[in-house]
Amino acid sequence: MSLKKKVLSVSLSSLMALGAVSAVSMPVHAVGNGPSAGNGAIQTSILHTYDSLVDYLKTQEAKQSAMELEIIGQTVKGRDIYMAKYLSNPNNPTILFLTQQHGNEQLTTEGALEFIKHLGTGKTKGVLDNVNVLIIPMLNADGAMGDVNFSLDNYLADGDRHLTRYNANYVDLNREHDKATNKMEPEARALHENVLKKYKIDYMIDLHHQGTLSETEGELVSGSILYPTTKNVKPEVLEGSKKLGSVVFNAIEPTGWGHLGKYAGESTNNIGRNGIAAYYDISTLLFEMRGMSDHYIKSYAIGQKSNGYLIKQTITTLDSTVRAIADGSIKKADTSFWDTLPTQKSRQGEESDE
Ligand SMILES: [Zn+2]
Repeated sequence: MSLKKKVLSVSLSSLMALGAVSAVSMPVHAVGNGPSAGNGAIQTSILHTYDSLVDYLKTQEAKQSAMELEIIGQTVKGRDIYMAKYLSNPNNPTILFLTQQHGNEQLTTEGALEFIKHLGTGKTKGVLDNVNVLIIPMLNADGAMGDVNFSLDNYLADGDRHLTRYNANYVDLNREHDKATNKMEPEARALHENVLKKYKIDYMIDLHHQGTLSETEGELVSGSILYPTTKNVKPEVLEGSKKLGSVVFNAIEPTGWGHLGKYAGESTNNIGRNGIAAYYDISTLLFEMRGMSDHYIKSYAIGQKSNGYLIKQTITTLDSTVRAIADGSIKKADTSFWDTLPTQKSRQGEESDE
């Protein structure tokens, strides 16, 4: 074991100890809106595996004439990375949805798969005539399957696999976005070379999961959102991001189960929300759903009884933004809510995600 590895494993166990302390002081009853903390077993077996995701996508492609699957590259371990494409007209505005840069944040992928199914039914009839949609579910398939070159023994979830934030090389893919593409990890390189550089994309939502204990106004949040905060983003691109956030906010907040805060994020371009807006002039929005599918810190992972709300939150986000772009109403979206949206705080000082 290298010295670096040794130091790392010590710091991970200290974090685990902190997680255990947090667990003891966690409220027994659900507080506030949204899915409740520690709700049910942390169980991975109900999630799609990479293989079942690929089967699902191929089944939908066979059923849906408007949908085409593209393989945009391969993961470190050689898994094909899929993108679902709905390109009805090159002159339409285009939105990209990206899930699971972090492999342990999977309910966004479950929601994206469900949304793909909706796109093939009468539920979204006519919408696709006026908007192009690109969906990359599970960018980090190796991390999602726990097929990585480091140990996940201290991860908490039950089931036949563990899910981790990092790719197989222990790299955080959401810190790759300011590099030359030939210096990037293969998953990030596939995204940049075969999607961001190849397609004309106007909007992007980068879907993640944060910990379970963030709140605003005394209520736990069901998620948090943020526009690009890099200095290098053009004003009109930033304005598009704020409008995208407005559409999402106004779709989620009235649901009763939805309660959103503003994410406290960094302004560096290595993060997708910032770098992709700065380098490609794409209006980006970060959406952090509550609770991860697996982690070594207990307060980060969320029990399976919350799955329904969080999957629904993803579907609502994708559906509302696709419709608002298709009918042009996004152009008139009121961005003033950002001025009063409280920045979320953690009840126990846990780290955030992104
Ligand atoms: Zn994440």
